[in-house]
Amino acid sequence: MDKNLRICIVGGGPAGLSAGMYLEKKGYENYTILERLDRVGGKCWSPTYNGRRYEMGAIMGVPSYYAVHDVEEFCGITHDGPKLNRNYKNKQGKVIEPFEPKKNILKIPRLLKMKKQVKKLGELLETKYKGYDLNGHRGVAEGRYEGFSQASAKREPVKGENPNLKDLCLPFKEFCKLNGVDLIQDIWIGPFTSFGYGYFDEIPAAYVLKYLDFQTCMNFVKINLWTWKNGTQYIWEQLNDHLKHPARLNSKIEKVERKDGKVYVTVNGAVEEYDKIIVTAPLYIPNKRTDGQVGMVDYFDAREDEKELFSKIDYERYDVLAVETKPEDHPEISYYVFENMTPETMGHLMVYYRRWKDTKDQVITTYALRKHKGTPEIPYEECKKTVLEDLKIMKNPASNVVNEWSVYYFPHVFSEDYAAGWYDKVEAMQDKYDTFYAGEIMSFGDMDETAEYSRELVERFF
Ligand SMILES: Cc1cc2nc3c(=O)[nH]c(=O)nc-3n(C[C@H](O)[C@H](O)[C@H](O)COP(=O)(O)OP(=O)(O)OC[C@H]3O[C@@H](n4cnc5c(N)ncnc54)[C@H](O)[C@@H]3O)c2cc1C
Repeated sequence: MDKNLRICIVGGGPAGLSAGMYLEKKGYENYTILERLDRVGGKCWSPTYNGRRYEMGAIMGVPSYYAVHDVEEFCGITHDGPKLNRNYKNKQGKVIEPFEPKKNILKIPRLLKMKKQVKKLGELLETKYKGYDLNGHRGVAEGRYEGFSQASAKREPVKGENPNLKDLCLPFKEFCKLNGVDLIQDIWIGPFTSFGYGYFDEIPAAYVLKYLDFQTCMNFVKINLWTWKNGTQYIWEQLNDHLKHPARLNSKIEKVERKDGKVYVTVNGAVEEYDKIIVTAPLYIPNKRTDGQVGMVDYFDAREDEKELFSKIDYERYDVLAVETKPEDHPEISYYVFENMTPETMGHLMVYYRRWKDTKDQVITTYALRKHKGTPEIPYEECKKTVLEDLKIMKNPASNVVNEWSVYYFPHVFSEDYAAGWYDKVEAMQDKYDTFYAGEIMSFGDMDETAEYSRELVERFF
């Protein structure tokens, strides 16, 4: 493509900013990033409290976060944050060690079986499901894989046929049953459901395994994880500072019209002309949100195929609270509550995070889900009340709520639409209306998958 193209990027989160970085690296310097808020980072939001930054959004990475590593290199920064650690409680607030055989004599047969099944899954993913862990979802529903290998930082292009990949369209629970590895869910659930990505009976296996590929899941188990002292938002603030064209904050996009090979964007009352537009912001939001966020179909001259496909997108209702406790009530470590990660215990506290170990004058953050497919959504205030009650049960009562966020989280489609080729239809529409679709829905809702998708988009089309 012509290196002088005028490219508009909607959204200044990881996907939008890294699209800018990869375009710039390839010699495209005529790009503009429009961000609706007064800050960059999107769901990497790290406010300051008592002089230190805490995490309202993204917290951690793993060593295979190659795109995030590209950003670190570009900016000369590194993952220098506090070491993560964790423990477990049951829903009565008692500390437990669910994976320690000596502490669970009666569960030894189950734990042994689980260990065998983890090994089996590892082997299946290497063989039967070869090609499962590429970024994005191209070809999966048709039994193909196509993309860039995530096995090393080189990310070589790979392509092939594998009809078994169609199994990834199934909800993860069914996928595990089909392969005789039901018990591995006891491990995968920790970094999946408690991180807000939904329940295994509703979410297609493709999302679970592309994010929690075998190595990544083992990194979670071994706590081989990255954090950033100044928060994950700092990564993207740094990137923004290092770009030739930092994001234009407080950009309210009122209208986007695509005609005669041009893209006209009305932003803060003025019309701007571009050649291409990359959308990293939500494509569709099924219900009206109190934070005023809308999907692209609401402000674009959306075409019938865009409306039809994007109306299939749903997202998770994931709530984060930042609370203070009295020093004597401060948890000594972060805790996971596995019993609260089921659809039946929806709305309860699933995990709470103590970030700074050397002081008790910092907030702790709590996480809860309040939506499950086919069940009525739990109202926000009710969920908040339940979580605060749960903290009392955990013997870490909150004295004050410092910050709260009901976040638009993990956009995805369900198995039926996934199997009907949703991704291949959307991929076939890339550039059809001088428009590219990127961000979380196109890969997965984590920092690296979204940044990586932007890298691949630039690699494929520019
Ligand atoms: C509580 C929580 C915990 C998480 N934990 C982790 C973790 O530990 N590790 C990890 O890797 N990931 C984690 N994530 C996920 C990660 O933060 C996201 O997947 C990532 O930020 C997605 O990047 P994105 O650019 O696609 O979208 P976003 O981060 O959502 O950014 C989109 C940007 O677009 C802007 N925007 C929206 N609409 C418009 C519009 N109309 N015009 C202009 N701009 C617009 C938004 O304001 C935002 O800045 C977590 C997220 C949350 C909320």
